[in-house]
Amino acid sequence: MTAAAATPTLACSFCLRTADAVDRLLGGPAVHICDACVSECDRILADPSVPFPTMDGLDDDGLLARLRPAADRVEAADAGLRGLVDLLRQREVSWARIGEALGVSRQAAWQRFG
Ligand SMILES: [Zn+2]
Repeated sequence: MTAAAATPTLACSFCLRTADAVDRLLGGPAVHICDACVSECDRILADPSVPFPTMDGLDDDGLLARLRPAADRVEAADAGLRGLVDLLRQREVSWARIGEALGVSRQAAWQRFG
């Protein structure tokens, strides 16, 4: 992993546009949303039959620009999951219970997080 990849890219959690590609980016503890997605949400709340836009209409460059933010989300989610498992292990919760909560075997939980 490069040093640049270690710094998460700040991006909208919904459309994955980076902070420099949007006018405003609002942040919460776990997610971010851009001004364009807030507008889409307003439109959907006014008419629930309107679907949230998909990424199918993006060109290759648009999709490529979203890869790093998507990879950063996966990495952050994995780090959050690992942190929860570490906390449970500090509390001496068994691998069997952790595995059961994750829907995997005790052995699979231990192999992934132990
Ligand atoms: Zn957005």
